[in-house]
Amino acid sequence: MRFDIATLFPEFVDNALNESIIGRARAKGIFEAHCHDIRAYTKDKHRRVDDAPYSERQGMLMQAQPIYDCYKAVCEGRRPHVIYMSPQGKTLTQPRALELSGLDEIFILCGHYEGVDQRVLDKIVDEEISVGDFVVSGGELPALLLIDCIVRTLDGALSQPDCYEDESHFAGLLEYPQYTRPEVWEGMEVPAVLLSGNHAEINKWRHIMRLKTTQKKRPDLIERLKLSEEELCILNNDN
Ligand code: SAH
Repeated sequence: MRFDIATLFPEFVDNALNESIIGRARAKGIFEAHCHDIRAYTKDKHRRVDDAPYSERQGMLMQAQPIYDCYKAVCEGRRPHVIYMSPQGKTLTQPRALELSGLDEIFILCGHYEGVDQRVLDKIVDEEISVGDFVVSGGELPALLLIDCIVRTLDGALSQPDCYEDESHFAGLLEYPQYTRPEVWEGMEVPAVLLSGNHAEINKWRHIMRLKTTQKKRPDLIERLKLSEEELCILNNDN
């Protein structure tokens, strides 16, 4: 899978993609990422990429020309799916990230300042994606979130696929609580079932705890699910 990221801060994005799990996946060739400096494509003699909005609003907007020329140069002969990171987009979800992981090529545009001239968005963007109902200063951190979320689902990125299949949001529920050594810490014990070695019982416990955790922390998620009689019973008996 290949990502092209158009940004005013290519080094920031590139460096972040070399860290930890994502960095190892990149080094193994599980995905490719190429960061492109939009400023390198400006035709302005002072290398500017922004200008004041016509709406008489304060602040600056990214101009269409450098972004479009960057897009054309990077995508010559290819037609990647083009995503603009934007607080106006659909909020990113785990199922959407999983769908996107099936694509071969994604081009991500990171905005900055007050945003981007609408005309270049109309011309090249297939989809706008938001990372939440709030505004940050640039599309770089949102783009990194998106790439991280997609890459985790690619074969070989995590040691086992169930590492992400068991996690929160994969099947609409949150993860069960997790424990590691020691067995007793500050007087608090690891639940006995986890020490039993009985896989069937452990699986049952995990499912019950998924339901209870979700009910407690995100009741809105539970409302969206079709639960079985047995699952409803588990939740109704919970205090
Ligand atoms: N004026 C715009 C916000 C601009 S913020 C508006 O009100 O809609 C500057 C840039 O940061 C945007 O172009 C976008 O690329 C990025 N950005 C800000 N918040 C974001 C969010 N929640 N999700 C994704 N990208 C975001």
